Amino acid sequence: MKDTSIPEVRDTHPVRLTALRDALARADLDALLVTSLPNIRFLTGFSGSNALLVVTALEAVLLTDYRYATQVEEELGASTRVRIERSSLWSGLWVHLGAVSGVERIGFESSHLPHTDFARLLEQGARWSWRPTSDLVETLRMVKDVSELAHIERAISIAEAALHQTIPLVHAGLTELTVAGILERHLREAGSEDFPFPTIVASGSRSAHPHARASERVLETGDFVLLDFGAVSGGYCSDITRTFVIGRATDEQREVYDIVREANVRSSGAIRVGMTGMAADAVARDYIDACGFGEAFGHSLGHGIGLEVHEAPRLARTVESPLSAGMVVTVEPGIYRAGWGGVRIEDDVLLSDAGPRVLTSFPRELHEL
Ligand code: ZN
Ligand code: ZN
Repeated sequence: MKDTSIPEVRDTHPVRLTALRDALARADLDALLVTSLPNIRFLTGFSGSNALLVVTALEAVLLTDYRYATQVEEELGASTRVRIERSSLWSGLWVHLGAVSGVERIGFESSHLPHTDFARLLEQGARWSWRPTSDLVETLRMVKDVSELAHIERAISIAEAALHQTIPLVHAGLTELTVAGILERHLREAGSEDFPFPTIVASGSRSAHPHARASERVLETGDFVLLDFGAVSGGYCSDITRTFVIGRATDEQREVYDIVREANVRSSGAIRVGMTGMAADAVARDYIDACGFGEAFGHSLGHGIGLEVHEAPRLARTVESPLSAGMVVTVEPGIYRAGWGGVRIEDDVLLSDAGPRVLTSFPRELHEL
């Protein structure tokens, strides 16, 4: 069901298309063929699963199929024209492009075009000059507008409400899959449209796998239980991790937990507009290193969230580009010790000129279940 509590700001799409046209002009392109569905959604509002989008200096034309004929009318504003194709989107594309004058150099999204479709460009589309592009739309997506932020904040509040309802129901004797099912049911009941990724429930020594899937392992007293999950609202994702202990935590568990929590608090409070992704990552990494667990923090500090759960920018050792106001990123330090267990605490943080604002509010203190 469509959410009506947050009004759609239809004017956002013309603004985004204008920004893309500026980027096309800088790249010396006459048009862009957009094949990434999240990018199409960002530029037009269309949320269906089959579409191509052609953006030129003068117009944006979305090609989709008969199944979406009604939906596309509801979702698109006046800035995009629609073609409903009854056979294939690709044959419709050649007809459309053949009728457009002044378009020779067309960019395609090299990260979002299967080789079979690339072959179509070279064969049926041989009369145009195809140029690979990367991240033209993704770059625009990094900075969120007010309507996007509202969706992300709602996705966060849904996820946190679901977690609050789930925690009292988690106990020794349940399997990880059962816990995932309880959490996912509460996510749905709280209004999540989808799951941004398969809910991670990792217990005991499995919590040392940073991207474990929920399994049939039975929770035992003394286990760490790591829950990494999110909600989706208006197409926008949240991404949260909390780690709990079943029963009383040992001193060793508490020591590791407190280091991760302090790394989270330090980094989420320190990230600033203008800082590089590398410098943000270093805040948590240097602290964990100084505590003697540097080798046990093997992944990056965080990533952007939006229409996809992992999107630009990244907070990682190799990223030299600066962060901007309006970006929403995760901050998720962790310590993982094979055979023993792991802890990760992940929050979602908005960067603004006034400083970072942690959007997640679920307590970070160690919670014994
Ligand atoms: Zn996560
Ligand atoms: Zn994440």
